[in-house]
Amino acid sequence: MADLTALTQEARAEVAAATDGAALESARVRWLGKKGILTEQLKELGRLPATERPAAGARINEAKAELSEAIEARRALLERADIEAKLTAGRIDVTLPGRGAEPGGLHPVTRARLRIETLFRRAGFDVASGPEIEDDFHNFEALNIPKNHPARALHDTFYFPDGRLLRTHTSPVQIRSLLERGAPLAIIAPGRVYRCDSDMTHSPMFHQLEGLVVGEHVSFANMKAALHGFLQAFFERDLAMRLRPSYFPFTEPSAEVDMSCVFCGGAGCRTCKQTGWLEISGCGMVHPNVLKASGVDPERFTGYAFGAGIDRLAMLRYGVNDLRLFFENDLRFLRQFRAFSS
Ligand SMILES: [Zn+2]
Repeated sequence: MADLTALTQEARAEVAAATDGAALESARVRWLGKKGILTEQLKELGRLPATERPAAGARINEAKAELSEAIEARRALLERADIEAKLTAGRIDVTLPGRGAEPGGLHPVTRARLRIETLFRRAGFDVASGPEIEDDFHNFEALNIPKNHPARALHDTFYFPDGRLLRTHTSPVQIRSLLERGAPLAIIAPGRVYRCDSDMTHSPMFHQLEGLVVGEHVSFANMKAALHGFLQAFFERDLAMRLRPSYFPFTEPSAEVDMSCVFCGGAGCRTCKQTGWLEISGCGMVHPNVLKASGVDPERFTGYAFGAGIDRLAMLRYGVNDLRLFFENDLRFLRQFRAFSS
């Protein structure tokens, strides 16, 4: 028992020398563990005379408690030092210049679509959508284009083996909206459409804008006013507009919409092929067969519908002369549109 002071000093020196948690833990086990050196001292008590045992036991326990305290203090110190080291290593120098986040921009076709949606919403239209994979009924049948109708030949359709197809126009949304909501209603449906067609001015996927208004007193004049108002708002200028008789299976009567050329103001240029006019949309009064197929009473309700190419509207608004630029995703081209607000 005489060497207890020396033992305690040795243990303290070992604890003080431990430079990490593992070394400290092995020191703790060596001195205070189940078979540790100080623990073993307690087992030796039995050899002492009974009168000395209580005092010796108290001294050993005191030494153990002191060493325990020293170990905990050392452990706290090492942990603090560890945290300090980690903080120093990971320090952020706020005086360095930032790496810089380059702001992205919306694709011009997306910008045009959002602008169209905003303008029509202001005019009281809802924005509707439908699936791009359609069935024959919604894409053709209900739009008064039965099987063997010559108009089907104009739609170079992508078919799936099960008979479904990639929609060739946004017009099926007319049918879906009417079947779902009934009349009266006023919607536009912008979206992707697909045709098996690819050259200088055609892309197999392009963006179309559909418009549909059905109500009890909807007239051809309403349609003309809505389209003219939209075109003037979209291009932000006074534009002349004219309607030419045309034919679509799903409207009767039908018309093509021309507007005065946005590049030459009607004087004649290359874009308008010297005519002063740009063809911009097809439209007409909804065919009674379409209303019937959509569960709407054609005796009570009338409606107008129109369709336009969003890509073309974007080309004319932003002065882009080649449709393919929209799909090549050349960053030098796309970056120019970051500055446009709409
Ligand atoms: Zn022109």
